[in-house]
Amino acid sequence: MATPQQLQLHAPLSGVLMPLDLVPDPVFSSRVIGDGVCIDPTSNALCAPLAGVVSNVQASGHAISITDDNGVQVLMHIGLDTVNLAGKGFTRLVEEGQQVDVGQTLIEFDADFVALNARSLLTLMLVVSGEPFTWLTPSSGLVDSGQPLLSLNPVERTSQTPVPEEGDAVFSKPVTLANPNGLHARPAAVFAQAAKGFSASIYLHKKQESANAKSLVAIMALQTAHGDVVQVSAAGPEAEAAIAVLADLLLTGCGETVVSAQVQAEVQAKPMEAQSLTVLRGVCASSGSAFGQVVQIAEQKLEVNEFGATQQVERDHLSRGLAEASVALQQLRENAKGSAQADIFKAHQELLEDPGLLEAAHVLIDEGKSAGFAWRAATESTATLFKSLGNALLVERAADLSDVGQRVLKLILGIRDQVMELPEGAILIAEQLTPSQTAGLDTRKVLGFATVGGGATSHVAILARASGLPAICGLPAQVLTLANGTQVLLDADKGELQLDPDLEAIEQLRTRRQLQRQRQQHELAHASLAACTRDGHHVEVTANIASLAEAEQAVAQGGEGVGLLRSEFLYLDRNHAPSHDEQASTYSAIAKALGPARNLVVRTLDVGGDKPLAYVPMDSETNPFLGLRGIRLCLERPQLLRDQFRAILSSAGLARLHIMLPMVTQLSELRLARQLLEEEALALGLTELPKLGIMIEVPAAALMADLFAPEVDFFSIGTNDLTQYTLAMDRDHPRLASQADSFHPSVLRLIAGTVKAAHAHGKWVGVCGAMASETLAVPLLLGLGVDELSASVPLIPAIKAAVREVDLTDCRAIAQQVLGLESAEQVREALRLYHEATVDTSRVLEN
Ligand code: PEP
Ligand code: MG
Repeated sequence: MATPQQLQLHAPLSGVLMPLDLVPDPVFSSRVIGDGVCIDPTSNALCAPLAGVVSNVQASGHAISITDDNGVQVLMHIGLDTVNLAGKGFTRLVEEGQQVDVGQTLIEFDADFVALNARSLLTLMLVVSGEPFTWLTPSSGLVDSGQPLLSLNPVERTSQTPVPEEGDAVFSKPVTLANPNGLHARPAAVFAQAAKGFSASIYLHKKQESANAKSLVAIMALQTAHGDVVQVSAAGPEAEAAIAVLADLLLTGCGETVVSAQVQAEVQAKPMEAQSLTVLRGVCASSGSAFGQVVQIAEQKLEVNEFGATQQVERDHLSRGLAEASVALQQLRENAKGSAQADIFKAHQELLEDPGLLEAAHVLIDEGKSAGFAWRAATESTATLFKSLGNALLVERAADLSDVGQRVLKLILGIRDQVMELPEGAILIAEQLTPSQTAGLDTRKVLGFATVGGGATSHVAILARASGLPAICGLPAQVLTLANGTQVLLDADKGELQLDPDLEAIEQLRTRRQLQRQRQQHELAHASLAACTRDGHHVEVTANIASLAEAEQAVAQGGEGVGLLRSEFLYLDRNHAPSHDEQASTYSAIAKALGPARNLVVRTLDVGGDKPLAYVPMDSETNPFLGLRGIRLCLERPQLLRDQFRAILSSAGLARLHIMLPMVTQLSELRLARQLLEEEALALGLTELPKLGIMIEVPAAALMADLFAPEVDFFSIGTNDLTQYTLAMDRDHPRLASQADSFHPSVLRLIAGTVKAAHAHGKWVGVCGAMASETLAVPLLLGLGVDELSASVPLIPAIKAAVREVDLTDCRAIAQQVLGLESAEQVREALRLYHEATVDTSRVLEN
């Protein structure tokens, strides 16, 4: 096809330009449909920004696309959620297929009616065909209809629109669309985006009509509606995979919350108890189990007027809302159950003062928006941005932003939260539970949580663990259709929610819980005893900590030292680096809490991957887990590492100080870091260096442990990362959570090799990944020769007790046996059988 000439797009209406990032609808602000402009209209006629053919005009008249001779395609969408107006307020003046000139009126609309009855009047003009553009006017301020706005840069189109390959195409099963308005712009964009991820040629079919599934406009042109039956076909490479993914996407609403017609039909046809599907599966977010009744928690949908009173009145509204929210959050901090919860609310308070958010809201107020509208647009667009960066922690931050956004919005709108009356024995079910929702609940009546969203690192998981309640995340959306009062058994350890369980299952669970409780009390009472196996082998059981408070708790729970201080967590909520004195006093306080007889292993900053740190700004990376993480980043910014070394060294002598480097892959990294450490120690006049070790969490380091061992004092195996890198499975991926298991024989073989190499050089090996906090892993790790287990603080008593239950000789045998197995499930099963065969639970409780 020919290269299009330089093309100008003209303003389709008059109004105020607004950055696309601030559009409070992720499908537009994320640019998944295409880049372009947003105009807050002051005129009420939408005109053609270019000459071409009307390639699609929605029956409801709120959206229209124009394609020119060179294939440039521009979509205009009047207002947000205007599809719900079902055509009211819009008059279409052109037909599909009609040739139009620049400036020709396409749609007239009743601006007052739309502003009052839809979410917003903000109008989008997006370049769907993807041409980059430059602005011909300033990108903010007023524009007049017809004024030249953008200059599109031509792109070479290499491929023609694919022609359906009828012969060898594969078809999906027919899918009944559950979206209330069919595949309108938002779900169509999500669907087209997903289709573009496959190289197959893909079509969406409705009756006799077909649309190229990679074209948003073509999908919209199908004019699908709720209840329409559609089918996907694909031909060529990845056809089968594309069909599976896209059919599932259609069933689940393409990003819109829907109850699929199939699920709805099933739910309506038979009561839940009669269905064959009686177990819903997710991932464990907080272990334990409970039997109780379903209580659905839904977030209130708030109606917000787009336009406000005067700027001053709206600014006052906003600052009053922010101030009241801060007071409420302060109260929540003070009443928090533990430091984890208090920290979350502290972070929320800080968001209230975030200059970026406030500025974005004020810009909108200055354009005439109401305080509520402006605040919601600012928080939602930032949350969308965070979510799009593909970083687990930022996704959590997005959840915080939405939570804070909602809190302030309610205060602006004068909506007071009613305390929800809960029945006894409630199992709370929600799409996503926010910290604010959970804080307002009477948790004495709550037995557990089950959510569709979130993962093991989500706030609901943190709060559930802090309150000792079981929780499952990542359940299918079907869980939201369960009626309140339905009896369910939540078995978080198995990641299962059993619907209407039988009496026997409930009884088994009760007995198990009672035994667990007795066992915990027993373990705690014996926490200060050494961790020695029955045949007299001592294993050091230490703590993973991230704060001084945790260091103190670790000692109280029988921790024999600290095996991992995650130093990057000490200063998470900062946008500037802590001073030397501040760092030095934190390390010294932690060292003092442990005393000179205990190990303190301080890990140097492990920033990057899933752990961004505000005061260490980094370029965004396509694949941050494989990018500048841990020691790689520190060696790029040696001053950061030198400063940290100097601060850590100031606590020498207060505890048995060890320094540990994260993410080491190359010997050169270790050597360079050692050189910096030696230089800093020399500058401080220290004659003796602290012990220096490395984490073994990259397979390369595990495989070359024999070369690293002579140059280190110790190794500590980070099974969390070692597992994700060995199995090539993201450690935070909700769908891979059950497979990304450190018990996989491949990971165990790397641990075995590491220990062998270290011991050959007289060096000790610890494990500080989450595997060391699992009692099931204790005989295995001991059998593989691990010398230290560094566990999360509350689990120290249980790990010590598990060590005291076993013989080292047996452990070696079982370890050898499982190294030859095929899968993590087989390893876990073998260890369970071993535990049942060798450990007499009643005897343990008597001792
Ligand atoms: C690990 O990777 O196992 C580890 C302990 O480090 P972190 O979880 O902090 O990445
Ligand atoms: Mg790690």
